[in-house]
Amino acid sequence: MDERIILGGVLLTAADAELRAGWGVRIVDGAIAEVGPNETLAGTRRGIETIDARDLLLMPGFVNAHMHSYGLLAHGIPLAQPPAGFYPFLAEFWWPRVEDRLDAAMIEAAFRLACARMIRSGVTTVCDILEAPHATPGVLDVEARVADETGIRAVLSLEASERHGAAAARAALFENAGFAATHGTGRVTGMMSLHTSFSCSEAFVREGKALAVESGVRIHLHLSESDYEPSFTLERYGVRPAIWYDRLGLWDSSVLASQGVALDADEIAVLAKRRVRLAHMPASNCEVGGGVAPVPEMLEAGMRPGLGTDGYINDPFEVMRAAFLIHKGVRRDARVMPARTVLAMATSWGADAVGVNAGVLAPGRRADLIGVRLDFDTPLTPENVADQLVLYRSGADVALTIVDGRVLFRGGELLTVDAEAARREAHAQAQRLWTKEER
Ligand SMILES: [Zn+2]
Repeated sequence: MDERIILGGVLLTAADAELRAGWGVRIVDGAIAEVGPNETLAGTRRGIETIDARDLLLMPGFVNAHMHSYGLLAHGIPLAQPPAGFYPFLAEFWWPRVEDRLDAAMIEAAFRLACARMIRSGVTTVCDILEAPHATPGVLDVEARVADETGIRAVLSLEASERHGAAAARAALFENAGFAATHGTGRVTGMMSLHTSFSCSEAFVREGKALAVESGVRIHLHLSESDYEPSFTLERYGVRPAIWYDRLGLWDSSVLASQGVALDADEIAVLAKRRVRLAHMPASNCEVGGGVAPVPEMLEAGMRPGLGTDGYINDPFEVMRAAFLIHKGVRRDARVMPARTVLAMATSWGADAVGVNAGVLAPGRRADLIGVRLDFDTPLTPENVADQLVLYRSGADVALTIVDGRVLFRGGELLTVDAEAARREAHAQAQRLWTKEER
């Protein structure tokens, strides 16, 4: 039996839980076995490994509910000028300049550095979506190896799109199904992934859904990242995307839709009724000029979205701050998106969205937790803990990261990955990507 105790300074078991001073957790075989006062945890079991984190706030690790880790290689890529909108961003930038040029070496290097950065800043689960039509097959196994080696929890998939023809699209579906079949319940799992309603036909969406149901896996898709997709489906099918998918029978609680920027009230009502999961990307939605997702409206309808970085700005604290701030500005209402809600999105709601048994520190959950430095500028109180974390801490304040009970980062040191070597390799691969001939 693999057992250890983490003694905490204060413990926050969930975003909406009470703050407990002098509490910690006991971990057995990668799962939380007990949550309680440090003395109780330490007193009953002498001689087992004990990690003294009494200078830290222990809390659930962050879930990055939507990530394109290869996006890291495009950080700072020179552009004569930003593309004119969301679709030109895809057609003139992401597809030709990045995704169609990716190969396995680039993907591996980007994912390893992304894992290092995420572990360092408190992300314990990542849902990584790979669109790399010329790097398949086998590239999910490359990512799985990196996830295994670094210790992060990962949900991996290839984004299937018919933009390179039906055969390539079906190959991606079957690669997802095959990967998911061999990665069922462990720390690294798979899901089915479709691109969008403008790159996947009706028959193809039905096939993807059927295969996901048959394989018993979740299904992910991008939904209305801007007005482009609703315009497309209105013209082609006479209805907006969420309604079109509803007619195809796609929606249920096993579906994770990402983005959800251009949704109207009827679409939100359908998504809420079908209990569809959603990943919100406040920062990257701004980057492409897509708009601001109607998240307060989703919350009012009963949806519980997670938060994702999209591979753009990858510090979970910065993304929480974007989610906290943007909607207040747009709605001109400081009461929307309270810090507790944002913290739930980044932890337990994100875990539910991507289908992992984490996001809350409670017996039976996987032991995915972080320790954040307690040296706040102002007093930490039970009432202000979410504000202190969401507004006044950053990834650099994370001092301990544990996934599945395994310590991955502690005392300023990443224990499973050489971050400087990973940075050098990603830098070299970015150089290759930036100068590679267009396909
Ligand atoms: Zn995406």
